Amino acid sequence: TYGTEFFVRWLEAVAEAVEREADRLTELDAAIGDADHGANLRRGFTAVRKALDEEPPTAPGAVLVAAGKQLISTVGGASGPLYGTLLRRAGKALGDDPRVTRERFAVALGEGVEAVSRLGGARPGDKTMLDALVPGAEGLKVSFAEGRDRAGEGALGTVPLRARKGRASYLGERSAGHEDPGAASSALLFAALAATAG
Ligand code: ADP
Ligand code: MG
Ligand code: MG
Repeated sequence: TYGTEFFVRWLEAVAEAVEREADRLTELDAAIGDADHGANLRRGFTAVRKALDEEPPTAPGAVLVAAGKQLISTVGGASGPLYGTLLRRAGKALGDDPRVTRERFAVALGEGVEAVSRLGGARPGDKTMLDALVPGAEGLKVSFAEGRDRAGEGALGTVPLRARKGRASYLGERSAGHEDPGAASSALLFAALAATAG
């Protein structure tokens, strides 16, 4: 089972991955959006790190809720409320339990993914973060590595798609041929999770 410390380490690993990949995320967003996805997430996860450091939560669910709140309040773009909702909803689903199994976390994250879909009105195939989040959360039910691999494949699978939600949808057909930036960052979430689980 996984405790508070594991979830803090996961979000720190996400913050590091975002830092490392910020330029690539921004380049992807430059192609089909407004070139701020890397900067948006960098700002968001810097705030997450700071909040977890200053007020350490005492349960896995509280870690996720605190992180989600920071993303909602600090990220101006569409991705802030969406990722914020993902983590808050997943955190609430975990309640106050001090330790959770991978399977339980996968189910909680699945609830978060559903909340993202309700909030943004997107479904898999619309060329959004959901193309990585949905298969990632499903894969996580099997193993951390499976979550990472399926999220990564889902992100790459957005390349040929035409965007039907978010800014990229304004481009219509011209959005095809590029990986969706939010799907790429969602794949980082699952890669960081697998790396943290070791
Ligand atoms: P903005 O588009 O406001 O500049 P970001 O660049 O930070 O915000 O995030 C863009 C990403 O957000 C997209 O690549 C996509 O994955 C995701 N996104 C945008 N709108 C939606 C939506 N309605 N549902 C799900 N994901 C979305
Ligand atoms: Mg953008
Ligand atoms: Mg923007």
